[in-house]
Parts: sequence; C-alpha cells; structure tokens
Amino acid sequence: MAYVINEDCIACGSCVDECPVEAISEGDIYTIDADTCTDCGTCADVCPTEAIKPA
Ligand code: SF4
Repeated sequence: MAYVINEDCIACGSCVDECPVEAISEGDIYTIDADTCTDCGTCADVCPTEAIKPA
C-alpha cells in the first residue's frame, strides 16, 4: 500500500521535505513512488489541500 496525491495538489511543496524516505517527486501535480512509500502518512498530515490519501 502507498499514499497517493490527487488533482487537488497545488504543487506547494510542503510534503516533499516531510517524507522520511524521499518518495515524493515534484511536478504540476506531485507524485509518490508507490514502491518507496512506507505508508507512514506524514505527508498527508501537512498537505494544505488534503490532496494526499491512502490508496
Ligand atoms: Fe513518504 Fe510517508 Fe508520504 Fe509515503 S506516506 S510518501 S513514506 S511521507
């Protein structure tokens, strides 16, 4: 299982520095590498638009 970032992402960058395993990549909408994500939920807690959810 992994967290996913949906279309509500505003590419603010808040989540990137919070991920302990550097699974988040920048883009028009940020993405999470499902193979790297440990499902910790830290990024979801800091997302201002609640765009990050468990898959
Ligand atoms: Fe990184 Fe945790 Fe978010 Fe997965 S759930 S992308 S490990 S911060």
